[in-house]
Amino acid sequence: MPEFTLPPLPYAYEALEPHIDTLTMTIHHDRHHATYVTNLNAALKGQTAFDGQSIEDILKNISQVPDGIRQAVINNGGGHANHTLFWENMGPGGGGAPGGALGDAIQAAFGGFDGLKAAVNDAGVKRFGSGWSWLVLDGGSLKVISTANQDSPLMAGQTPLLGVDVWEHAYYLKYQNFRPKYLEAWWNTVNWASVSSRFAG
Ligand code: MN
Repeated sequence: MPEFTLPPLPYAYEALEPHIDTLTMTIHHDRHHATYVTNLNAALKGQTAFDGQSIEDILKNISQVPDGIRQAVINNGGGHANHTLFWENMGPGGGGAPGGALGDAIQAAFGGFDGLKAAVNDAGVKRFGSGWSWLVLDGGSLKVISTANQDSPLMAGQTPLLGVDVWEHAYYLKYQNFRPKYLEAWWNTVNWASVSSRFAG
Protein backbone atom coordinates (compact mmCIF):
# COMPACT_ATOMS: atom_id res chain seq x y z
CA MET A 1 0.00 0.00 0.00
CA PRO A 2 1.16 3.57 -0.54
CA GLU A 3 2.82 5.22 2.44
CA PHE A 4 3.00 8.99 2.37
CA THR A 5 5.31 11.03 4.59
CA LEU A 6 5.18 14.61 5.85
CA PRO A 7 7.74 16.63 3.86
CA PRO A 8 9.88 18.88 6.04
CA LEU A 9 9.11 22.58 5.82
CA PRO A 10 11.62 23.85 3.21
CA TYR A 11 12.67 26.77 5.48
CA ALA A 12 12.60 27.68 9.16
CA TYR A 13 9.30 28.11 10.97
CA GLU A 14 10.14 31.76 11.60
CA ALA A 15 11.24 32.43 8.01
CA LEU A 16 7.98 34.07 6.96
CA GLU A 17 7.82 36.55 9.84
CA PRO A 18 6.32 39.09 10.17
CA HIS A 19 3.78 38.12 7.52
CA ILE A 20 3.04 34.64 8.86
CA ASP A 21 4.00 34.05 12.47
CA THR A 22 6.19 31.24 13.81
CA LEU A 23 3.54 29.58 15.98
CA THR A 24 1.04 29.45 13.11
CA MET A 25 3.65 27.88 10.83
CA THR A 26 4.62 25.33 13.47
CA ILE A 27 1.08 24.21 14.25
CA HIS A 28 0.03 24.34 10.61
CA HIS A 29 2.88 22.14 9.37
CA ASP A 30 3.56 19.86 12.34
CA ARG A 31 -0.05 19.21 13.35
CA HIS A 32 -2.50 20.05 10.56
CA HIS A 33 -0.44 18.80 7.61
CA ALA A 34 0.86 15.86 9.63
CA THR A 35 -2.71 14.81 10.45
CA TYR A 36 -3.72 14.84 6.78
CA VAL A 37 -0.78 12.51 6.02
CA THR A 38 -1.66 10.17 8.90
CA ASN A 39 -5.32 10.00 7.89
CA LEU A 40 -4.48 9.56 4.20
CA ASN A 41 -2.29 6.55 5.02
CA ALA A 42 -5.05 5.12 7.21
CA ALA A 43 -7.61 5.52 4.42
CA LEU A 44 -5.34 3.81 1.87
CA LYS A 45 -4.32 0.96 4.18
CA GLY A 46 -4.38 -2.28 2.20
CA GLN A 47 -5.14 -0.51 -1.11
CA THR A 48 -2.28 -2.04 -3.09
CA ALA A 49 -3.82 -0.82 -6.37
CA PHE A 50 -2.35 2.60 -5.58
CA ASP A 51 1.20 1.42 -4.93
CA GLY A 52 3.74 3.67 -6.61
CA GLN A 53 1.24 6.44 -7.38
CA SER A 54 1.90 9.99 -6.25
CA ILE A 55 -0.85 11.79 -4.39
CA GLU A 56 -1.23 14.00 -7.46
CA ASP A 57 -1.85 10.90 -9.64
CA ILE A 58 -4.45 9.60 -7.20
CA LEU A 59 -6.30 12.94 -7.08
CA LYS A 60 -6.28 13.29 -10.88
CA ASN A 61 -8.01 9.91 -11.08
CA ILE A 62 -10.18 10.27 -8.00
CA SER A 63 -13.08 8.34 -9.58
CA GLN A 64 -10.89 5.22 -9.41
CA VAL A 65 -10.71 5.40 -5.63
CA PRO A 66 -13.27 3.05 -4.05
CA ASP A 67 -16.53 4.67 -2.86
CA GLY A 68 -15.97 3.82 0.79
CA ILE A 69 -12.68 5.71 1.09
CA ARG A 70 -13.06 8.32 -1.67
CA GLN A 71 -14.13 11.21 0.58
CA ALA A 72 -11.35 10.44 3.06
CA VAL A 73 -8.82 10.52 0.19
CA ILE A 74 -10.30 13.79 -1.15
CA ASN A 75 -10.06 15.41 2.29
CA ASN A 76 -6.71 14.06 3.45
CA GLY A 77 -4.99 13.46 0.11
CA GLY A 78 -6.11 16.91 -0.97
CA GLY A 79 -4.87 18.27 2.34
CA HIS A 80 -1.48 16.62 1.79
CA ALA A 81 -1.07 17.81 -1.82
CA ASN A 82 -2.41 21.31 -1.17
CA HIS A 83 -0.16 21.96 1.82
CA THR A 84 2.94 20.54 0.10
CA LEU A 85 2.40 23.03 -2.72
CA PHE A 86 1.62 25.83 -0.26
CA TRP A 87 4.96 25.45 1.60
CA GLU A 88 6.87 25.33 -1.69
CA ASN A 89 5.12 28.42 -3.01
CA MET A 90 6.26 30.54 -0.07
CA GLY A 91 9.71 31.40 1.19
CA PRO A 92 11.87 33.95 2.94
CA GLY A 93 12.57 37.06 0.88
CA GLY A 94 9.47 36.41 -1.22
CA GLY A 95 6.98 38.77 -2.74
CA GLY A 96 7.20 41.28 -5.55
CA ALA A 97 5.78 40.65 -9.00
CA PRO A 98 6.58 37.70 -11.26
CA GLY A 99 8.63 38.22 -14.42
CA GLY A 100 9.56 36.10 -17.42
CA ALA A 101 7.09 33.87 -19.20
CA LEU A 102 4.82 33.68 -16.15
CA GLY A 103 4.76 37.47 -15.85
CA ASP A 104 3.83 37.74 -19.54
CA ALA A 105 1.06 35.16 -19.18
CA ILE A 106 -0.32 36.99 -16.12
CA GLN A 107 -0.24 40.25 -18.07
CA ALA A 108 -2.24 38.64 -20.87
CA ALA A 109 -4.77 36.89 -18.63
CA PHE A 110 -5.33 39.46 -15.87
CA GLY A 111 -3.98 42.76 -17.27
CA GLY A 112 -1.00 42.52 -14.94
CA PHE A 113 0.04 41.43 -11.48
CA ASP A 114 -2.46 43.77 -9.74
CA GLY A 115 -5.27 42.09 -11.65
CA LEU A 116 -4.09 38.63 -10.56
CA LYS A 117 -3.76 39.79 -6.97
CA ALA A 118 -7.26 41.26 -6.93
CA ALA A 119 -8.74 38.06 -8.40
CA VAL A 120 -6.97 35.74 -5.93
CA ASN A 121 -7.88 37.94 -2.96
CA ASP A 122 -11.50 38.20 -4.10
CA ALA A 123 -11.81 34.42 -4.53
CA GLY A 124 -10.21 33.90 -1.12
CA VAL A 125 -12.41 36.41 0.70
CA LYS A 126 -15.57 35.06 -0.93
CA ARG A 127 -14.82 31.41 -0.06
CA PHE A 128 -17.40 30.78 2.66
CA GLY A 129 -15.99 28.69 5.49
CA SER A 130 -12.78 26.84 4.71
CA GLY A 131 -10.93 26.38 1.45
CA TRP A 132 -8.34 27.71 -0.95
CA SER A 133 -7.86 30.36 -3.60
CA TRP A 134 -5.77 29.27 -6.59
CA LEU A 135 -4.00 30.31 -9.75
CA VAL A 136 -4.36 27.30 -12.03
CA LEU A 137 -3.67 26.21 -15.57
CA ASP A 138 -6.90 24.98 -17.12
CA GLY A 139 -6.60 23.70 -20.67
CA GLY A 140 -3.54 25.89 -21.17
CA SER A 141 -5.19 29.05 -19.82
CA LEU A 142 -4.42 30.80 -16.55
CA LYS A 143 -7.46 31.05 -14.28
CA VAL A 144 -8.21 32.01 -10.70
CA ILE A 145 -10.52 29.62 -8.90
CA SER A 146 -11.48 28.71 -5.37
CA THR A 147 -12.07 25.29 -3.86
CA ALA A 148 -13.91 24.27 -0.69
CA ASN A 149 -12.35 22.35 2.19
CA GLN A 150 -9.29 20.43 0.90
CA ASP A 151 -10.64 19.83 -2.61
CA SER A 152 -7.75 19.84 -5.08
CA PRO A 153 -7.90 21.53 -8.50
CA LEU A 154 -6.31 18.30 -9.79
CA MET A 155 -9.68 16.57 -9.39
CA ALA A 156 -11.14 19.00 -11.94
CA GLY A 157 -8.28 18.45 -14.41
CA GLN A 158 -6.64 21.75 -13.49
CA THR A 159 -2.97 22.21 -12.58
CA PRO A 160 -2.45 24.35 -9.47
CA LEU A 161 0.41 26.83 -9.84
CA LEU A 162 -0.10 28.96 -6.73
CA GLY A 163 -2.49 28.46 -3.83
CA VAL A 164 -3.34 30.27 -0.66
CA ASP A 165 -4.92 28.49 2.29
CA VAL A 166 -7.88 30.46 3.66
CA TRP A 167 -8.79 28.04 6.47
CA GLU A 168 -8.83 29.94 9.76
CA HIS A 169 -5.98 27.72 11.01
CA ALA A 170 -3.75 29.46 8.43
CA TYR A 171 -4.14 32.93 9.91
CA TYR A 172 -6.30 33.16 13.03
CA LEU A 173 -3.56 33.53 15.67
CA LYS A 174 -2.16 36.67 14.04
CA TYR A 175 -5.05 38.05 12.00
CA GLN A 176 -8.11 36.67 13.88
CA ASN A 177 -11.17 37.16 11.66
CA PHE A 178 -9.42 39.56 9.26
CA ARG A 179 -8.90 37.24 6.30
CA PRO A 180 -8.31 40.18 3.88
CA LYS A 181 -5.37 41.39 6.02
CA TYR A 182 -3.83 37.91 5.97
CA LEU A 183 -4.24 37.70 2.18
CA GLU A 184 -2.61 41.11 1.72
CA ALA A 185 0.37 40.10 3.88
CA TRP A 186 0.66 36.63 2.32
CA TRP A 187 1.72 38.08 -1.06
CA ASN A 188 4.98 39.15 0.63
CA THR A 189 5.86 35.47 1.07
CA VAL A 190 5.30 34.22 -2.49
CA ASN A 191 8.30 32.43 -3.99
CA TRP A 192 7.85 33.33 -7.65
CA ALA A 193 10.79 31.20 -8.76
CA SER A 194 8.88 28.16 -7.50
CA VAL A 195 5.63 29.24 -9.18
CA SER A 196 7.48 29.97 -12.44
CA SER A 197 9.10 26.54 -12.50
CA ARG A 198 5.67 24.95 -11.96
CA PHE A 199 4.33 27.05 -14.86
CA ALA A 200 7.26 26.04 -17.09
CA GLY A 201 6.69 22.37 -16.22
MN1 MN B 1 -4.06 24.48 6.14
